[in-house]
Amino acid sequence: MAVPTEDLEKYQRAGKIAREVREEIKRTVREGMPIIDICEKAETLTREKGGKPAFPCNVSVNEIAAHYTSPPKDKQTIPERSIVKVDIGVHVDGYIADTATSVCFDSEYDYMVNTAEEALEKAVELLRPGLSITRFGSTIQKTIKTRGFKPVSNLTGHLIRRYLIHAGKSLPNIFNLSTSRIKEGEVYGVEPFVTVAKAAGRVENLREAHIFRYAKNKSLKDPYAKRLLDHIRKNFMTLPFTERWLSKFASSSGYKTAFSELLSSKAVVGYPVFVEASRNLVAQAEHTVLVVKDGCVVLT
Ligand code: MN
Ligand code: MN
Repeated sequence: MAVPTEDLEKYQRAGKIAREVREEIKRTVREGMPIIDICEKAETLTREKGGKPAFPCNVSVNEIAAHYTSPPKDKQTIPERSIVKVDIGVHVDGYIADTATSVCFDSEYDYMVNTAEEALEKAVELLRPGLSITRFGSTIQKTIKTRGFKPVSNLTGHLIRRYLIHAGKSLPNIFNLSTSRIKEGEVYGVEPFVTVAKAAGRVENLREAHIFRYAKNKSLKDPYAKRLLDHIRKNFMTLPFTERWLSKFASSSGYKTAFSELLSSKAVVGYPVFVEASRNLVAQAEHTVLVVKDGCVVLT
């Protein structure tokens, strides 16, 4: 089924904003730069261009593969000779574009970054209605392996639906047994993650989480926690958010206790930071694509 014109127009607007923000951020990231400045710049640009962040800007350095965003007052900076993944999400009325790029400050990593981009290009070439997810995964794996690298096995692309960044269906970047096929009208975040051949080639969770989302309504003891939850649900719905976006609450004395209650009651859940299990470097490239009759269209 083709996408209705109005939805398509919103996807395209979100895609254009995400692309412009990605390119501008790519030009500005420098060694020594505070990570929080990068996150805030990406999110501010998104709003200035008429979109909303679909999730907090992720800035994941070296062996951190994904899901790092600055907590409030973050002091971390971009290390020298590092490889930095910047992952940007934009939505227009819930229609999401998700895109990422890797910037590196050591030419030694250029080929790995280039391999992630090649794998993404290959994925875009492949995607069309009827393509099996099995064939997709094995082709991406082969593309990465041929160049002497390894795909991260447990990070996948994903189906996107309105207000849902991970809408159930995954696009693994390795061989997998699946009976599932690509369908016309589907929107995917396509994102190969690449690491070195000697690495474990998978990610594990760190204990820290700086990205959260509303999970379910809970009866809460603390009236302040209840108010905070209402605010989160109303403003971010099912989309991920950061505590940086709750600054008007953070100045009040009850904030810390209230936010802890939201987490302990599981009304709000965290996305832990993903680190490569053997602590090797990771590169990523991502586009959002719309599957059309005879292939796919890159929205970002
Ligand atoms: Mn992404
Ligand atoms: Mn994604």
